[in-house]
Amino acid sequence: MPLSEFALIRRYFERRPPLRADVLLGVGDDAALLKVPEDRVLVATVDMLVAGRHFRKDADPRGIGHKALAVNLSDLAAMGAEPAWATLTLALPEADETWLGGFCDGLFALAECFGVQLVGGDTTRGPLTIAIQAHGFVRESKALRRNGARPGDSVCVTGTLGDAGLALALAEGQINTPDRYRQYLQDRLDRPTPRIRQGIDLAGLASAAIDISDGLAQDLGHILERSAAGARLWVDRLPRSPALAILAGETALPYLLAGGDDYELCFTVPAENLAKVRARIDHWDCNYTEIGVIEAEPGLRCVRDDGTLYRTERLGYDHFL
Ligand code: ADP
Ligand code: MG
Repeated sequence: MPLSEFALIRRYFERRPPLRADVLLGVGDDAALLKVPEDRVLVATVDMLVAGRHFRKDADPRGIGHKALAVNLSDLAAMGAEPAWATLTLALPEADETWLGGFCDGLFALAECFGVQLVGGDTTRGPLTIAIQAHGFVRESKALRRNGARPGDSVCVTGTLGDAGLALALAEGQINTPDRYRQYLQDRLDRPTPRIRQGIDLAGLASAAIDISDGLAQDLGHILERSAAGARLWVDRLPRSPALAILAGETALPYLLAGGDDYELCFTVPAENLAKVRARIDHWDCNYTEIGVIEAEPGLRCVRDDGTLYRTERLGYDHFL
C-alpha cells in the first residue's frame, strides 16, 4: 500500500532522536520553536537541488541527501557560523521507500556529524526537488561577509580545487584519468565536506569569505565586487590533489579556476592575522594555501610564476548562461 503523506513524514522525519536542547519543539507541530543564544545572531540560508539539473535522476539517494545538506552547511561555514538546525522541503514524484531510506541515511549521517537537527519541512508530490534551509549562529561582530577584503590582504583557499569539476568531465567522457583516482574524484563531487571548523576559526580573523560553488574565479569575483577591490592570483600555486596534479601543463587551470562544486572556502586575511590563522590549522581536517593578494585596482589578474598573465575565457558556472 502506498504511504500517505503523514505516515511518510512520521516514518522518515519525525521519529528521530532529539539532538539539541535548543529545539523547544521540532517536527510535528505547525512550526518549530527554536532558541537562539542571547549573544549570537541567527544565520539562515537555503539552497535547492533539482533532479536533472543538479544531479542525475538515477543518482544514489544517499549522495543526494548528503549533498543537499552539505551545500547549505557550506554556506553557513562561509559566514563563520556554527550550524544548528535545518528544515527540508521535498517534492517527490512518488513515495519510493527505497529512495527515501537512502536519502535519509545520507542526510542524517551528515546532520549528526555536525550536530544539526531537522526541525521541520514540507512534503509534496512533484518533480524531484530538494530544498534545505540551514540555520546557525555567529557573533554579530565576527560574521564573515563578502565585502571586507582590503588591498594587501592575502587571498587563501582551503583544501584543493577542481576535483569536482574533473569528476564531472570524467563522467561526461571529456577526459580520462587513472582508475585509482576515480573513487576519490566521485566522492569529491557527490560528498563534499562543509568546512565548518574552518569557518568558525576564521570568524573574526578573515576580512571576507565565500564558499566556492561556481568556481574560484567567479566566487572570488563576488568578494572583489562587494569589496570594491581587485586581486592578483598566482595560478601556479593553486592547490591541487594528486588526481588533478597529473593533468599536463596548463590543462589543469580551467578546473582549478572555474570547476564548480568545490565547496572549499575562499577567504582573505589581513597581514596582522595571518599568524593566528596558521596557528589554528592544527584542528583542521584540511590544509589551506595562500594563492594571491588583494589589490586596489579592480579585476582579477591571473599570473604565472614567471610573471606572465594567464588569460581565462569562460570562468565559472551560471545557471542562466
Ligand atoms: P502544515 O500543513 O501545518 O504545514 P504539514 O502537514 O506540512 O503541516 O507538516 C507536518 C509536520 O511535519 C510539520 O511540523 C512539518 O514541519 C513537518 N514536515 C513535513 N514535511 C517534512 C519534511 N520533509 N522534513 C521534515 N519535517 C517535515
Ligand atoms: Mg506544510
